Amino acid sequence: MVRNFYNLAAMLTRLPVEVNPYRLVEQGRVFDGVSDIASLNRIEDLLADKDGTLSVNLTFYRNESALPALKGQIEGDLSLICQRCLDKMSLPISTTVGLVFVSSDEKAQSLQDGYETYLVEDSRILLNDLIEDEVLLSIPQLVVHEKCEPYRPLIEATPETISQTVHEEKENPFAVLQNLKNPDK
Ligand SMILES: [Zn+2]
Repeated sequence: MVRNFYNLAAMLTRLPVEVNPYRLVEQGRVFDGVSDIASLNRIEDLLADKDGTLSVNLTFYRNESALPALKGQIEGDLSLICQRCLDKMSLPISTTVGLVFVSSDEKAQSLQDGYETYLVEDSRILLNDLIEDEVLLSIPQLVVHEKCEPYRPLIEATPETISQTVHEEKENPFAVLQNLKNPDK
């Protein structure tokens, strides 16, 4: 199966758990690997499916102001639970990472605006925490389908589709609410 082959490949490029970001900056390290969706503990309740991985590319470097920095990309597909109809929904993640490492909050405040900062304690960070932060930032506050089945948001409809919707509407427009109350239905 293609899927098994992919998982095998993924195992070979697993990211380190804990790193010293300052050392990686000096080394100019680049990571090209994967992160398990199952390890995204803080969005666990939103996930419909914990299988799979996100592909992660991270480059540690000194930015134009000689600050220790990280840039990169996190991509993949999350399978989430729609907060309106409680059905599965796929959310593509494609987020650009760009941040500066700081060793204290004071340091962060002394930096000019425009930098996203990441607090480093004891010269160590957990890469998974950092990735999770970035993924959290890229998930909308309200995770819902654009159009739940069978609910149709009239707000986005053109006059033409509104008249269609009215004709096609089932007799009980509150059926969607009943479905919400009985998600098993
Ligand atoms: Zn939905």
